[in-house]
Amino acid sequence: MSLSSLSTLNSQLSNCVLCGTCRSVCPTFGVINREPASARGKVSLCSAFLNKEITLSERFIKHINECVLCAACEENCPNDVPVIDIILAARQEIFKKGKTDFSRIAVSKFFGSEKIGRNALKVASKIQNIFFKQVPEESGLHRRFPLPFVHGKRLAPRLAEKFFLEDRRQKTEVRSKKDKSQPRIGFFAGCLINYIYPNIGEASLNVLEKAGAFVVVPLDQSCCGMPAIGIGDIEGAKRLALKNLEAFEKYELEYIATACATCGDGLKKRFKELLADEGEDLQKRVENFSSKVRDITELLVNDLGIRQSPVSGLRSPS
Ligand code: SF4
Ligand code: SF4
Repeated sequence: MSLSSLSTLNSQLSNCVLCGTCRSVCPTFGVINREPASARGKVSLCSAFLNKEITLSERFIKHINECVLCAACEENCPNDVPVIDIILAARQEIFKKGKTDFSRIAVSKFFGSEKIGRNALKVASKIQNIFFKQVPEESGLHRRFPLPFVHGKRLAPRLAEKFFLEDRRQKTEVRSKKDKSQPRIGFFAGCLINYIYPNIGEASLNVLEKAGAFVVVPLDQSCCGMPAIGIGDIEGAKRLALKNLEAFEKYELEYIATACATCGDGLKKRFKELLADEGEDLQKRVENFSSKVRDITELLVNDLGIRQSPVSGLRSPS
C-alpha cells in the first residue's frame, strides 16, 4: 500500500478540534455554504465512516468529491490535520469499492492513456467547433448540444489545434544546442499545457533557453498521474509515475522544470509516496527524480540565479 489509507490516518483525523478555521478559506464551502462542503465537515465524515457510523453512501461520495484539493485548509489548520491525504484516502476507498463516477474515471483514463487519450483528444480538437459556438473567449463557451456526463453550466476549455508534445515530435526531441557549461533541464509539460495551453509550454522553453539552459523535452513523458490519484486509482497513478521516471532518466538532467503547480506536487511529492513500497532500487530512482523537480519560477530564481527577466514583458523578482 502506498499513499496513506484512511485507517492509517485515524490518529490524524482525531487531531481536528473542530475550530472551523478551514471554513473561512475553503472555496467549496464558500460556494456551497454547507458544513459537509468544508474541510471540517469532510474530516468528520471520514471519522464517522471509520467508526462505521456511516457507509459509502451517495451523499458521502458527493461531499468527498466536492473538494478541489487546493490545500488552503491544510495551510491554515492550527493542528496540522492532513486534509488532502484524508480526502485522497477516502477517494481510494470509493475507487476500491467500484463507486467512483464513470465520468471521473473516463477523464483520468483519457489523460493517462497515451494512445487512446491523445487520439480521442485529437479528434475532439477537430470537431469542437460543432459543439461550441464561436463566441469570444471572455463570454464563455456555450454548448449547442448536450454532452453526456458534462454539467450544462460547465465551461469547457478549448483544446489546442496542435498539442505541445505532438508539435515537438514533428521537430526534434532535444530543443537547444548542447553546450557543456549549460545547465541541463528537462521540461515536463503535463496535460493542461500539452492539450490546452501549448503556448505556455513554448513560452516556458523560451524563457529557460534565454536564461542559458540546455532544454530537453522527453517525448515519452505522460500525464503526471494526479487525475488518477484524485479519483483514488493508485495502480493507474503508479503506472504513470514509472513511465515518466523512465522517460526522464534517459537524459542526464540536472533539473526537471514544470510550469504546472499540480504536476509539480505530483512529481515532487506524490511519486515518492506512490512508489514507497516498490523496493529500494526504485525508491532511490524516484528520490533522485523528485529531487530535481522545480517549478519554473523557483528554478529560474533559486537555482539559475536569474534576477532580471530573460525575456521582455516579464516582471523581475523583487
Ligand atoms: S482548521 Fe484543522 S482543526 Fe480546525 S476544523 Fe479545520 S481541519 Fe479541524
Ligand atoms: S482542499 Fe478541499 S476541503 Fe480543503 S480548502 Fe481546498 S476545497 Fe476546501
